[in-house]
Amino acid sequence: MEITLFSPLDMHLHLREGDMLKAITLPSINDFASAVVMPNLRDPVDTLEKVQTYRKQIESLVSEHAFEPLMTVFFRSFSRQELIALKSHIFAVKLYPAGVTTQSEKGISDFSAIEPTLEILQELKIPLLVHGETNGFVLDREKEFLPMVERMAQNFKDLRIVMEHISTRDSLRVLERYENIFATVTVQHLLFTLDDLAGGLLQPHLFCKPIVKRPADRQALLDAVLAGHPKIMFGSDSAPHPLDKKEAPGCAAGCFTAPIALPVLAELFERHEAMSRLQDFISGHAQTIHGLEPLPKPVRLKKEPYKVPQTFGSVVPLLAGHTLSWRVSSRGD
Ligand SMILES: [Zn+2]
Repeated sequence: MEITLFSPLDMHLHLREGDMLKAITLPSINDFASAVVMPNLRDPVDTLEKVQTYRKQIESLVSEHAFEPLMTVFFRSFSRQELIALKSHIFAVKLYPAGVTTQSEKGISDFSAIEPTLEILQELKIPLLVHGETNGFVLDREKEFLPMVERMAQNFKDLRIVMEHISTRDSLRVLERYENIFATVTVQHLLFTLDDLAGGLLQPHLFCKPIVKRPADRQALLDAVLAGHPKIMFGSDSAPHPLDKKEAPGCAAGCFTAPIALPVLAELFERHEAMSRLQDFISGHAQTIHGLEPLPKPVRLKKEPYKVPQTFGSVVPLLAGHTLSWRVSSRGD
């Protein structure tokens, strides 16, 4: 059996910087026509100059491939002029509460100060991508942040807000309640629960923020995605770290999934007899929500055993060594 996915889009991707950027960019983007590139570098990407520099670095690595990076800037208080200048160079602005995930120390701690910038984003029709977690108890962080998302959605009804990598039933309820809220979902939050991460031997390569949650949360996400929920898009949140930062005390948060995402999703959707909905999850919904016209890039997958490599570059992927039932057989670039 074979399927072809047209112009797969990864709506949330970390490409990092320096040697890591060089090592993992191609495996991360090979199967995608485009990806939304996160701005949380050591020095956050928060000016036009930094966006242009980062885009050039990425483009030099992907020049032979059919791939377009969709750039983001790290949220701070922006002036109208700054955002007007940025608008044609970015896809969205990414908001991190301070300290909730990798390199988010310069994120937002005073939420009352963000509204003038939200007002301008709304006016200029620039989407706002939100890492929605508080600094509370780890299983409740996403839920605790939801009132903040609701407040933004109410106060800025024309602002397109994307709740990134949602991991709970509670987020799905908020998604239903507001027309201007959308969401991305990762593979790990569709496949795993906290038991898989920490119920037996600790699995550092499944440790990410937001942490994988309860069975009922996973089931609710799976039901919504497999039913073809039109407000939910695929975003891998593929977030590589060097081996010595993962298999170590103080394990860094992030699952490296972009190179295996399509085979994993094909297997999952086939198992649930939902293969006809995979194209929309992987591309169609994002095109409709954001008005994207991605590069034409067919990616063929074959139903054949595929043993996930132990490493890509220096990074261990999620499911390393596991045999999946689908493999990517050819790509249009
Ligand atoms: Zn992320």
